[in-house]
Amino acid sequence: MRIDATPLEAIGSAAGAAAHSAHTADRIRVGGLTRLTSIDFPGRLAAVVFCQGCPWRCGYCHNPDLIPAGAATALDWPQVMAFLRTRAGLLDGVVFSGGEPTLQTALSAALDETRSLGFETALHTAGMYPQRLATALPLLDWVGLDIKAPWSRYAAVSAARNSAIPVQESLGLLLASGTPHECRTTWHADLFPVGELVAMALDLAERGVRSWALQAGRVGALAETDLPADVVRAFQGLFPHFSLRQA
Ligand code: SF4
Repeated sequence: MRIDATPLEAIGSAAGAAAHSAHTADRIRVGGLTRLTSIDFPGRLAAVVFCQGCPWRCGYCHNPDLIPAGAATALDWPQVMAFLRTRAGLLDGVVFSGGEPTLQTALSAALDETRSLGFETALHTAGMYPQRLATALPLLDWVGLDIKAPWSRYAAVSAARNSAIPVQESLGLLLASGTPHECRTTWHADLFPVGELVAMALDLAERGVRSWALQAGRVGALAETDLPADVVRAFQGLFPHFSLRQA
């Protein structure tokens, strides 16, 4: 995670002076902000808003500070909006990441306000709240959906019971929406064996996934040599858009 932790006091003061009225978007809890990224929203220069809170406890979580929903935060939404106003015309978009953005019912209001400034919007989600995803989809230009494991392994990887069920629903909603997207899976052989990874890829392709990224679940890049060459070729054949990358 690349959170720019520099305080935004100056911007925050300006936001306060604007006598911002309380509204729904203000309730979104922001755990961090990256002011510029070229890799989190394909084809766009973007800022990333890291939403506070996640109900799951994945063992490899890179953002553990963002997991507690009630943790103290250094930013609030009016400060983020004040920052975004300074970037209108300079950035293409804003990514809502986390934590889990769909944990917060104020997400759609925050997306709406972001779009009112002329930004495109993207969401990184693990898909555990399909109805909130459905509400947000019309307000999104791109979605990165985590598919964490074969469905039978989901509870173990996420440390949450029955966690595969809402993700399957979210995947179906995303595919049906036509919203540009990518499914991504963090994998290491310690999580589940390569044979299950292959079966999972076949299942995703059968469900209609066309863009899949496989991310290394450990320090260091996931090289093609970490997987048998025939497996990599099979993945490349299954998905028109397939990539191996460092998580
Ligand atoms: S869903 Fe994402 S933010 Fe939540 S615990 Fe898992 S890796 Fe961390």
